[in-house]
Amino acid sequence: MYLNQKEGWIEVITGPMFAGKTEELIRRVKRLEYAKRNILVFKPVIDNRYSDNEVVSHNHNRTRSIDIKKASEIIKYVDDLVDVVAIDEIQFLDEEAVEICEYLADKGIRVIVSGLDRDFRGEPFSFMPKLLALAEYVTKLSAICVKCHTPATRTQRIINGKPANYDDPIILVGAQDSYEARCRECHEVPNKPDRYKFLK
Ligand SMILES: [Zn+2]
Repeated sequence: MYLNQKEGWIEVITGPMFAGKTEELIRRVKRLEYAKRNILVFKPVIDNRYSDNEVVSHNHNRTRSIDIKKASEIIKYVDDLVDVVAIDEIQFLDEEAVEICEYLADKGIRVIVSGLDRDFRGEPFSFMPKLLALAEYVTKLSAICVKCHTPATRTQRIINGKPANYDDPIILVGAQDSYEARCRECHEVPNKPDRYKFLK
């Protein structure tokens, strides 16, 4: 799909948790490493989780990365020798990430990012819709629903053994938080505000 195209574009790997987004990002990065492309990989550091300068997939594949707190930090690492910029879990960065991806792609850099398309409520995750609209290539991966084993497009959040409520904050530090992949049918969000007002 990239034949005869001048380099400089955005590709987004998206979907719910457990779909293999990071795995796919690492696969693309490794392939480019074999081709001796000059690559920078970035990863947002959330809160004070320890910084390990590595992107690791659920399958324990890994690649070295630069930990960043703000999207604008990317710029100071990018020089004229950089061919590819990869960003894992981009949804955890600030919204400026979108403009930075655009800037890099306009400079002729291949930008590969992975990120959740929805939050645990099943709603679009912050700036991801904008990034998906601006990207040249979008790969939407699905996981497998833990309940019914059909393709899963949502991330179920579970707090202390129960489905998380609609109004629980997106980042709840210190809670017994866990996540599962679920399909549209099996995804549960208690207290979700009334929808389909057009039916009333
Ligand atoms: Zn299901």
